[in-house]
Amino acid sequence: MPHYVNPWIVRCFLGIFACVIVCSGQLAAQQAKINLASGFDFPVGIPNADGYYKARGLRLRAPQHFGEDWNGRGGGDTDLGDPVYAVADGIVTFAYNVRTGWGNVVLTRHAYRDPQSGVVKYCDTLNGHLDRIMVRVGQQIKRGQQIGTIGSNSGMYPAHLHFEIRHNIHIGMQRNSVPATFEHWADPTKFINQYRRLNREWRPVLVPIGTYQPYVGFKGL
Ligand SMILES: [Zn+2]
Repeated sequence: MPHYVNPWIVRCFLGIFACVIVCSGQLAAQQAKINLASGFDFPVGIPNADGYYKARGLRLRAPQHFGEDWNGRGGGDTDLGDPVYAVADGIVTFAYNVRTGWGNVVLTRHAYRDPQSGVVKYCDTLNGHLDRIMVRVGQQIKRGQQIGTIGSNSGMYPAHLHFEIRHNIHIGMQRNSVPATFEHWADPTKFINQYRRLNREWRPVLVPIGTYQPYVGFKGL
């Protein structure tokens, strides 16, 4: 009896094989290659926030404020339209006008090697109430690159930058999805001062993307 393999079975196996390759490719697509941060700067008056002051700090207990408010020393709306900069190399994960109390928001993701543990860690920075957005989702950004301008959320507030740093890269615009603890949030000024200068590393690293929980109308990375 001749050794015979049903061609349909062969095709079926080939089909499954192709599917596995395509599916694993899609999983791999949920990462982006970015430069490790060579350090973190303040988002205004770079690198040291010269000409600006912190009008409100982080507060995780009620009444909560999940980041810092940065204002120009000139007061009032004198800082309206001033540049807002990327605090470190990274990738833009969200850049939209979400209206409500937020207005224009830019979220960026960064990778940095913690000098103490040697481990590569990730963080997100959020810039809120921007007058203008100057980057788009998926764009690689450099430390010190302008990403937008200080705004007032269309007159809702005196112009200022609302700035957050999150250790948790799954929050996105859903702040209530995690407990308000230092496991998930960083004190921006403390974080920036701690990681001001990091060793330059030339080999890029993979960061997870697509980590925000999608919701109706969500358009981020
Ligand atoms: Zn604020």
